[in-house]
Amino acid sequence: TKIVIVGASHGGHESAIELLDKYRDVDVTIYEAGDFVSFMSCGMELFLEDKVTAQEDVRNFKPEDITSKGGHVFNNHEVTAINADKKEVSVKDVKSGQTEQVAYDKLILSSGVTPTVLPVPGHDLDGIYAMRGYDWASKIKAATTDDSIKNVTVIGAGYIGIEAAEVFTEAGKHVTLMDMIDRPLGNYLNENLTDVVTKELTSKGVELALSQSIKSFEGDKSVTGVKTADKTYPADLVICAAGVKPNTAWLSGTVNLTDRGFIDVNPYLQTNLPDVYAMGDAILPLSIPAGKPMPIALATTARREAQYVVDHIFEDTPAAPFKGVVGASALSVFDYHFAAAGLNTTTAAKVDVPVATSAYQDTLRPAYVPESAGNTDVYTSLTFDPLTHQILGGAVLSKYDITAQGNVIALAVAHKLTLEDLATADFFFQPGFDRQWSLLNLAAQHALGWAR
Ligand code: FAD
Repeated sequence: TKIVIVGASHGGHESAIELLDKYRDVDVTIYEAGDFVSFMSCGMELFLEDKVTAQEDVRNFKPEDITSKGGHVFNNHEVTAINADKKEVSVKDVKSGQTEQVAYDKLILSSGVTPTVLPVPGHDLDGIYAMRGYDWASKIKAATTDDSIKNVTVIGAGYIGIEAAEVFTEAGKHVTLMDMIDRPLGNYLNENLTDVVTKELTSKGVELALSQSIKSFEGDKSVTGVKTADKTYPADLVICAAGVKPNTAWLSGTVNLTDRGFIDVNPYLQTNLPDVYAMGDAILPLSIPAGKPMPIALATTARREAQYVVDHIFEDTPAAPFKGVVGASALSVFDYHFAAAGLNTTTAAKVDVPVATSAYQDTLRPAYVPESAGNTDVYTSLTFDPLTHQILGGAVLSKYDITAQGNVIALAVAHKLTLEDLATADFFFQPGFDRQWSLLNLAAQHALGWAR
């Protein structure tokens, strides 16, 4: 069976290894439009902060990892069209410009997304960067040591924007972190936690410019400022981390797309074309807590989808649909570390799911353990169905690394546990690590109003 995979990132990589490990007699070929195979953007901050061996090492896989298992990998090869009747794809060799027709029995699309620059005047000035993939990583790295760059404006205070703000602050630049909404990480965390994040960013010297509507980028050849409805923020460099566009223009007319250009898939991750599957950032996955598709652009999502597609690739209609994802993630914001899973007030509102929330703060360990012995504040937030108490999301945040608790919340959300389940769940106690009741027990008990 000849299987063609488009895109050599998380979805393409997981598909290839699962296919080669699980089946005999599969001929697997990955086509990647870019030159560098499988740069791992998730590891970009570590690279920018000099915490990895080399830029070339920040990748999901090397072509040899796949060819040694019998697969094929072609970089600089862009798939430009699908001819579903003949079951062929057109593949363009980007270097020579030549196009060939390649037959497939099964076709897997994991073409991902590209960051967008706001379509305002000045958007094509020099010095406006994105933060995704190998080439932007090289450019951003050079900018961190460029003394002519003093002011950096990061547009978008989501995960990627926070990473950029941290990188440039640590590189000694003055950073303005800008967003149209009124809280940093407001699409990821509830207000009690974004309050802590806001203080931390400000105390580390990041200038927050929130609730901003951007009117234009100023400058002649290179950007010199970002003009909003309020004022002009000086900027020698702009990092745009506020929006993406699915890499799907080449599919239009053959594969059904949503109005925003995402690949339309059924619950089995099949497209409208026979034997053509899609996954990763280019689709909207089923969110378990929302009960409907929504953007959850994570490597973890792409890999779970790839695993599902490969497991069922030889069935016309699999017995069970893709079970969906929770959307679990973690990040450091300078001295704090947080992990979040499922819905929060912002994302719940976007998908019309009514929620209640509860904020709980405590110390990590019993009060008699001093800060000098590692005791510190811990913060939690739970998002739940006000009627059934089903846990729909949550997050933990602290200077101590309690991010593993985020996976406990993720499991609770995935298995539709209630506050009552979490309030009484049997977790360990040891004063070297936590309280007599574990943090998430207490958070759920607090949400239920149980007296302690
Ligand atoms: P993508 O990674 O978007 O890659 C698609 C690939 O397809 C590209 O290489 C592209 O060149 C290629 N391609 C596109 N069109 C064609 C074509 N027509 N022909 C051939 N090739 C084509 N997720 C996490 O879970 N944890 C993290 O910590 C995390 N950190 C991140 C940090 C940053 C800075 C960024 C940008 C993202 C981060 N993510 C993280 C998200 C994660 O990187 C994405 O969810 C994941 O890469 C999506 O994988 P994908 O397979 O859908 O496609």
